[in-house]
Amino acid sequence: MNTLFSQLPSIDSLLREPALQTQLQQCGHRAVTKVLRQMQDEARATITQQGKLPIWHSDWPQQALAILARQQCSALQPVFNLTGTVLHTNLGRALVAEAAIDAVTASLSSAVTLEYALDDAGRGHRDRAIAALLCELTGAEDACIVNNNAAAVLLMLAALAPGKEVIVSRGELVEIGGAFRIPDVMRQAGCHLVEVGTTNRTHLKDYRQAISENSGLLMKVHTSNYQLQGFTKAVDEIELAGLGNEYQLPVITDLGSGSLIDLSQYGLPAEPMPQALIAAGVSLVSFSGDKLLGGPQAGIIVGKKALIAQLQQHPLKRALRVGKMTLAALEATLKLYRHPETLVQTLPTLRLLTRSQNDIAQQAERLLPPLRQSLGDRFTLEAVNCLSQIGSGSLPVDRLPSVAITFSPKDGRGSTLEALAQRWRQGSTPVIGRIQEGRLWLDLRCLEDEAHLIRMLAP
Ligand SMILES: *Cc1c(COP(=O)(O)O)cnc(C)c1O
Repeated sequence: MNTLFSQLPSIDSLLREPALQTQLQQCGHRAVTKVLRQMQDEARATITQQGKLPIWHSDWPQQALAILARQQCSALQPVFNLTGTVLHTNLGRALVAEAAIDAVTASLSSAVTLEYALDDAGRGHRDRAIAALLCELTGAEDACIVNNNAAAVLLMLAALAPGKEVIVSRGELVEIGGAFRIPDVMRQAGCHLVEVGTTNRTHLKDYRQAISENSGLLMKVHTSNYQLQGFTKAVDEIELAGLGNEYQLPVITDLGSGSLIDLSQYGLPAEPMPQALIAAGVSLVSFSGDKLLGGPQAGIIVGKKALIAQLQQHPLKRALRVGKMTLAALEATLKLYRHPETLVQTLPTLRLLTRSQNDIAQQAERLLPPLRQSLGDRFTLEAVNCLSQIGSGSLPVDRLPSVAITFSPKDGRGSTLEALAQRWRQGSTPVIGRIQEGRLWLDLRCLEDEAHLIRMLAP
């Protein structure tokens, strides 16, 4: 064992290795030394426990470089999203527009008028510019921006109905992924949930009968990730707003996705629009910035001036407010909606959602030859029609016709498929597909940089 220990190189000699000199310059002496010490500890443990040297003993510098490279890899690594889900929550949802990226860069590299009004040299309000834009686009009186839509719902409830009853239909007590459940948020906000109606049918009279002197709000929640079908009845916003008016109770709607344009004009499933609900008389509407809107993560609340003022003054607003990066990206994204004719080009989310199956099929035909050339000996490659999803709480039943390239292992083994998927996940730009029916599927809907993908898959 002592002879094994004596074979371990010294830190000093390793630090003089020519192969490590570039890393020493880039990462610094301290970081490289730390990695080398860890390697020495690991080597000693291997000797003590297994009576042999570690397998990488033949090339210490190479092993150190591999560890340093892993350490430098970002936790937010860019990947190819070929899962078939356009707004993929685990992959960061919407890709923002070029204009939004430029605006964020500008906001980060300079002092900005975040809470500073140039005209009177006093303190401005950080949501003000975006509130004006949102009012222009939705017809609302005012707006408030927070960290995400979950925060928006929490703030509306906590600020407008603390200790009071909030009346919601039993058909709308939703759970969105990631521990967002309406009854839980209600409790956190200090409100009492009053459920009305039944799972499949709720009538206006159900809400009316539940109203008492303890009522604080009437609430609607968009059932974004499921659909009630068959013998069903829900009360629409116009009716509920009428009832709210009658009893002087605000009506709020958690819209979830919420699109500022009519998606049916592109042949996409229609999603409710915030401006339609404002026009219907709803007091406050909340929706996400990074779902169909195609902007940064944010929660947007639009509606009545007096209620927005209550939200702005609530202590939770300070805790949930967004930073200048978010505001810059949101403002630039919203400005694109002033030119709806060009949105299909300028807004990546809409550009990807509206790609035709024909366009994607042509892309698949271009990709097949180079991919077959490098992988065709072990896999059968085919272009197959498939269905993409919008994702992030848009109806899972609404699918978009798309095309995937599928890879079936010629040896018929699942492990061959797993190995391929794993190799692609470990590339410098990982490629994320899905395994289904004994094949690996790459849905091409979200593929824009073809040449880059070919470099990753067929090096
Ligand atoms: C997505 C969604 C939320 C949560 O929004 P985040 O922006 O992810 O916080 C809340 N309610 C509904 C109806 C949703 O669809």
